[in-house]
Amino acid sequence: MSEEKNKAADSLKAITESKELTDRMGKIKHKIMVLSGKGGVGKSTVAANIAVSLALEGGKVGLLDTDFHGPSIPTLLNLEGKRPGSDGKAILPIEFSEGLKVMSIGFLLQNKDDAVIWRGPMKMKVIKQLRDEPLSVAQLIPGMDGAVIITTPQNLSLNDVKKCINFCRQLSVPVLGVVENMSGLICPNCKTIINVFKTGGGEKMASEMGVPFLGKIPIDPQIVEASDSGKPFVYHYGKTEAAKAFTGVVQPLLQMGDKTESGAETVLSKEEKKEGMHKIAIPVVEGHLSAHFGHCEEFAIFDVDFENKKIVRQEKAPSPPHEPGLLPRWLAEKGVNIIIAGGMGTQAQQLFANSGITVSVGASAGDPEKLIISYMDNALELGDNTCDH
Ligand code: ADP
Repeated sequence: MSEEKNKAADSLKAITESKELTDRMGKIKHKIMVLSGKGGVGKSTVAANIAVSLALEGGKVGLLDTDFHGPSIPTLLNLEGKRPGSDGKAILPIEFSEGLKVMSIGFLLQNKDDAVIWRGPMKMKVIKQLRDEPLSVAQLIPGMDGAVIITTPQNLSLNDVKKCINFCRQLSVPVLGVVENMSGLICPNCKTIINVFKTGGGEKMASEMGVPFLGKIPIDPQIVEASDSGKPFVYHYGKTEAAKAFTGVVQPLLQMGDKTESGAETVLSKEEKKEGMHKIAIPVVEGHLSAHFGHCEEFAIFDVDFENKKIVRQEKAPSPPHEPGLLPRWLAEKGVNIIIAGGMGTQAQQLFANSGITVSVGASAGDPEKLIISYMDNALELGDNTCDH
């Protein structure tokens, strides 16, 4: 790694672990990332229309446009030339309408054609250094609900989407679904659909990759017209087939249940987890449970038969390097579905919850085998989270 990248990684780590960021992000009930494998497939258009649709459904929505290479959200929502204010600590988003606030890298440019110049409380310069927008966003935003991936029906675009899905999997970001944009053209005269770039490839690919398919949005010349004049399409052309298609796409997003900060929604209930075979990991330092999850040397991993209250197998595995998103993946690949920890930050808890791993925090330092036995007997005492950051 170059020195610049090392520095960037350090600052990124500092930001990610900052309590302020975690606290603020914790107040947002759902966080959805919209991404695509390549440019020009309609990522910004779809993201803006999803945000407007969610706001129209009564949601309080924030749209963050981190596109470095041509942030188009200000144009799409007629917010060009707006300058965000500041409360001295943070940059404040622009209110587009009741229920929709917007922040875009475009607002931070001196003028539309400038390179990105950062001013003020620009911790985000890290993003600039890393350049890789989706990666930075996924790492900076704790507890992401998941990603919506935009594609067009052509094979080239579909191949890029497979990479996107794998990227999400590597970072333990759940894929909420794939949207096939520019899927057929509705003839402005006779209203029949002409399949310009084929159709259905997105749906087939989603099923092959085992991810949900959220719907197809047709090509509609009015989308271009609306976008160019800064009118949100779903609002101004609500009766069109394309607007109805957007409504279909947001339905599964509206169904997302309420979640607690620790992602309790995805966590198994106590009754469920105390049946059958389970794999439990305990972070260990000097032979005892490590009070700080991030500082452990190794993991003690136990195969446990809850019905017969027996430890069937145990192993020790050295902790892998602490890279963002790596531990949940590494433990999930080992088949671990329960972690007993001393202290763990809420962001890490969320990542594990997203990987289907239940975390019990607040166990006190002790011999891992004894902790497992107490756990099986429902006698494990859980105190305060010893390192909630
Ligand atoms: P990206 O953010 O992926 O680069 P954009 O959202 O900027 O892509 O879309 C690229 C162009 O395609 C824009 O001119 C936009 O108006 C147009 N576009 C996007 N989706 C559609 C659609 N379904 N029908 C017609 N034009 C579309």
